[in-house]
Amino acid sequence: MKITRIDHLGIAVKDLEPVKKLYGEGLNLTLHHEEVVESQKVRVCFFKVGETNLELLLATSPDSPVAKFIDKNGEGIHHIALEVDDIAAAVEELKAAGVRMVDDKPREGAHGAQVAFIHPKSTHGVLIELCQHRPK
Ligand code: ZN
Repeated sequence: MKITRIDHLGIAVKDLEPVKKLYGEGLNLTLHHEEVVESQKVRVCFFKVGETNLELLLATSPDSPVAKFIDKNGEGIHHIALEVDDIAAAVEELKAAGVRMVDDKPREGAHGAQVAFIHPKSTHGVLIELCQHRPK
C-alpha cells in the first residue's frame, strides 16, 4: 500500500452556511466543490488548502452517520482521508492484516472518488478514510 498524501480532513457541522462563511470569507479559502452524497446522507463542501482540502459535512437526515457522530461527540473533526494509489489492494491488505474495516470493499464517495473507511476501533479512535481519485 502506498499512501500519497492527506487528501482531506472531514469536519462535521450542524449548520453549513455560517461555517461556509467562516472558511470562505474569514479564512479566505476557495470553495471548489459541493454535492450531496446520497449513500452517506450528507452534503459536503470542499475548501482547497494547498494540496489538501477541508471537507465540511452536514447531515441531510437524522439517521446519517454524521448526525450520529454529532449526537455523540458534538461538532468537530470527523475523519482523516488518506489518498492511496490502489484502494482495492489497500483494503485487501488491511483485511489480511486483521484490521477492521467499515467498508469491506471500496465504494463511490464524493467527487466520484473510490473510498473505504477503516473502523476507529482499529485505529485507536481515528476514523480513517482511504480514497483514490479516478485517473485524470
Ligand atoms: Zn471524506
